[in-house]
Amino acid sequence: MRTGINHLYIPGPTNVPEVVRQAMNVPMQDMRAHDFGALHIALFSDLKKVLRTAMGQVFLFPGSGTGAWEAAITNTLNPGDRVLMAQAGQFSLLWAEMARRLGLDVDLIEVEWGAGCPVDQFAERLKADKAGQIKAVFVTHNETATGVTSDIGAVRAALEAAGHGALLFVDGVSSVGCLDFRMDDWGVDLAVTGSQKGLMLPAGLGILAASTKALEASKTATMRRAYFEFNDQIKMNATGYFPYTPPTQLLHGLRKALDRMLEEGLDAVIARHHRLASGVRAAVKAWGLEVCAMDPAQYSDTVTAIRVPAGVDARDVIRIGYDRYNCSFGSGLGPLAGKVFRIGHLGDLNEGMCLTALSLAELSLNAAGAKVQFGSGVAAAQAVYAADAASVAMAAE
Ligand SMILES: *Cc1c(COP(=O)(O)O)cnc(C)c1O
Repeated sequence: MRTGINHLYIPGPTNVPEVVRQAMNVPMQDMRAHDFGALHIALFSDLKKVLRTAMGQVFLFPGSGTGAWEAAITNTLNPGDRVLMAQAGQFSLLWAEMARRLGLDVDLIEVEWGAGCPVDQFAERLKADKAGQIKAVFVTHNETATGVTSDIGAVRAALEAAGHGALLFVDGVSSVGCLDFRMDDWGVDLAVTGSQKGLMLPAGLGILAASTKALEASKTATMRRAYFEFNDQIKMNATGYFPYTPPTQLLHGLRKALDRMLEEGLDAVIARHHRLASGVRAAVKAWGLEVCAMDPAQYSDTVTAIRVPAGVDARDVIRIGYDRYNCSFGSGLGPLAGKVFRIGHLGDLNEGMCLTALSLAELSLNAAGAKVQFGSGVAAAQAVYAADAASVAMAAE
């Protein structure tokens, strides 16, 4: 028998605000009614604000982030095209695997899990590619498996320095709506995300934005696609309709979630994620533990992967958290299984929720054999949150 709420600190699906859940509780609607489209036209334009793009064309596919990966590839590339990618964690690994399955020639640079995108190596490869054989560069903005955020602007700079015309694909599934994401400034051609992370919704929407250059490429791209065809969407979306049955409830939820984000202000949302994450990192330090991310400049503000001490199995920490304390932490994926547990701190979250995560992590760590001092992480995070609140109050005076 479980009492109370399940404390959900996995990096997705994230907590759905009560008002968003309520907003999805609507009767089924006539998807061909003359007034059905109005809701969606505004959704497309508000998603552009979140992605910080003026020119991008937004697509909403029933599916998940993985579906949006596939839509991005199949609409803009040709079988056998060479693409440049790095494998730095489970999600970049899966994207590379998909690219191979779809018949792309993947030039995969392997880096240690915990490192970010190897921009210098990308720059070398791009500079050496005088014949322009590399058709696309894929980057995972925030590697959710390791808690590492890569510098997309630096990848764009590398493309420019090489005078290279490859398309820039960016996986923003665990960054869009939480971290600073600048589609236009960074010249992102295909920006991929999903509904169940920063956007605070259930899973079910694969969200994609394509630049003018990506749309141009889609006109001649020969990779096979049917369900995900851009053109079918573009024609219907113009008036707010879809080529097949849309997940209406999710779209109502998206309306409410976007309202909340825009009311809080995108910059404030980003600052809140940074503040909350800083507290979590202070706690990890106070415990005497290490995060998986190697470079402090790349620490993720949406998820922290925490290495457990030698002799402790992170799977025990997670199981004890769940069974004993009704608290969900993220697991170590692939080679990190047993070595790390992850705290997702993205979406609809506040200081109190982070402090709960940290206090239950202290209990679970100790029960699993890691000797961390009770209250040490909580106190360290409280100090960060208190100092931040004090500086905000001073600035307001
Ligand atoms: C969650 C996640 C995905 C997979 O998205 P789904 O919605 O589960 O298909 C891809 N990339 C990153 C970085 C993620 O965090």
